[in-house]
Parts: sequence; structure tokens; C-alpha cells
Amino acid sequence: MNSQMMAAVLYGKEHLRVEPVAVPQLQNGDILVRVKVALTCGTDVKVFRRGYHARMIVPPAVFGHELAGDVVATGAGVTKFSAGDRVVAANSAPCEKCYFCRRDLQNLCEDLLFNNGAYAEYIRIPARIVESNTYSIPSHVSYQDAALSEPLACVVRGLDETNPRPGDTIAVIGLGPIGLMFVSLAKLYGMRVIAIGRRKTQLERAAMMGAHELISTEDVPMPVQHVRHMTHGRGVDVAIEAVGKPETWHWAVDMVRRGGTVNFFGGCPNDSKVSLDTSLLHYSEITCKASFHHTPAYIQKALQLVVDGHVTAQAFVNREEPLSNLLEVMRHLMSHNGHMKTAIIP
Ligand SMILES: [Zn+2]
Ligand SMILES: [Zn+2]
Repeated sequence: MNSQMMAAVLYGKEHLRVEPVAVPQLQNGDILVRVKVALTCGTDVKVFRRGYHARMIVPPAVFGHELAGDVVATGAGVTKFSAGDRVVAANSAPCEKCYFCRRDLQNLCEDLLFNNGAYAEYIRIPARIVESNTYSIPSHVSYQDAALSEPLACVVRGLDETNPRPGDTIAVIGLGPIGLMFVSLAKLYGMRVIAIGRRKTQLERAAMMGAHELISTEDVPMPVQHVRHMTHGRGVDVAIEAVGKPETWHWAVDMVRRGGTVNFFGGCPNDSKVSLDTSLLHYSEITCKASFHHTPAYIQKALQLVVDGHVTAQAFVNREEPLSNLLEVMRHLMSHNGHMKTAIIP
């Protein structure tokens, strides 16, 4: 095998190059995967815009984290996989020993190991991720579909945290790929879905995925009253914020019913603050949740939804581009907030 490969290296703010780098060396327990597809993700776009992510990636570094591919080499001691296996590897693995891991909060692990480098011909999957968060892809499942497991796992966990029930009404604010995943999952769970978004194309996609009601914020800039109206004045059982702005965090709190649950899923810019109406939270018994990341159990649950055909990449990926075009793709996604995912083919 060649000792060099093409890979995207992130150098800083809006600065990345696709260039030859050394194929990663394997340590005991690692595997080397030939990347068949890497999906762009809002987090990657955010990292590209800012130039770093305190927890996930410190440049200069290889970049990208949603991938599926073929095992091409295995380090000493690997028994779970062998060359030729089709696999999807999550972008992190918890330690399973710390305070948080022992409480089933592996997403908050004190020693969460992150892995990047999906926008490349090959990626090294470190031993801990091989052991606890890498999975074989059944032959009838495409690489693109399998690569959805990571973002989908965050969404499945986020929805499960809100105690969803069939017949309940859920409002999803923000219809980027994550918001749309909430729409299709809520529909699958038998919920009535109110989808709130700006772009017409996003609203159309939400309708295709089974949203029962659509609210365009172009037509209704302040949708809270509208949502209350649709729910006999009561408000929705569950409100999901998938935008990441203080203003829409407020909307979510204001449109949920008494005893309902809000999930602040969208991360706001650093140092953002929101002010909360304490009487509303107290006397209306509103539960506020915020979800971050995923756990191995949810990666498995998400992959199973994909394997069973409930979620396919087709609904969230609207372009395919070669790795050499990554810089343009990132620039494009940056100027089109809430854009669909692009499949990068190395
Ligand atoms: Zn992602
Ligand atoms: Zn841990």
C-alpha cells in the first residue's frame, strides 16, 4: 500500500487544504479504514468557520467525523474485524470507568476520546473506538446510509430524553439536517409534528418526511402564538430547538404546554445567555433539557433504525463531491446555514 494519501488538513479559521499526508500508522488494537464516504456535518462547518473546537479538534489536524468504509489493515490483537469488512465507526468512545460512564452518561465521559480525519482516503480508528463503537455494515445497507448513524444517534438520544409518546404533539424549530431527523423520527414514534423553518425547500422536505403542519418563519416571524393556536391554546407536549440561537430557545419555552418538555438541542454561540421566566417554569412545571453528543448504545440504536430502513441518507444528503472540492463545499455550506449534507467521496 502507498505510504501517502490525500487528506483534508484543517489549519485554522476557514483555512484547510487537501494535500498528501502520511497514511496513519497503526498501534495495537487500531484499524485502518479506506473511507468510502464522509458526510459533511454542521459541526464541521462551525469548526471550519471558527478554526477550532475546544473538545473535538485542535488544528492543524485531519478533519471530518461521519464516515463509513472498508477495513484495509488491522493492528496487533484485533479480533473483531478483518480486512475487507464494511464498517461504520463513531467519532468517539467513552472510557467506561469514570463517574459519568458509570451512570450511563457516556456522552459526558471525562475522558471521551474523539477521532477526526474522515475527509481522507484512509482513517485510523483508535483501539478504544474499534472495541466499543465500530460496527459491521450489513450488505444491504449503503455506506452513505450507515454514515448517518453518528448524527442520528444524537437525535435519537435527544428525542428519547423528552419522554416522547405516540399521539403527542411535537414542535421542531429549525429544519436543517438535524431538525429534519427529529421530524422523521418523531413521525416514526407516532407523534403529530409541527415543523417550523424559514426556507421553502426545508419546509417541503419536512412535509415529505411526514410533518403534519408547517410554519414558515418568512410568513410568521413570531410563531409562538401560531403554535398555541394549533394546540387549543395549550401548547405542544414537546418542543425541540434545533437552530442554536437564544431567540429560538425562548420560542421553545414559550410554545410548550404545562408539564411539557423542551430540548435545547442547538448549541448557541459561546457566551450566549438566555433569561428565563421563573414563574412560567415553576408554575407550569416545564422541564428543560439540553442534549449533547451520543453514547455507544445510541449509536447502535441509530444504526438499527438505518438497517431497518426507517432512515436513509437520501433524505438528508443532496450532493456528492470529490474530496478535492472540500474547501468549496465548506465555503458553500458556511454561506447557506441549515443546508443539507454533502457526501464527500475520497
Ligand atoms: Zn456530525
Ligand atoms: Zn468515562
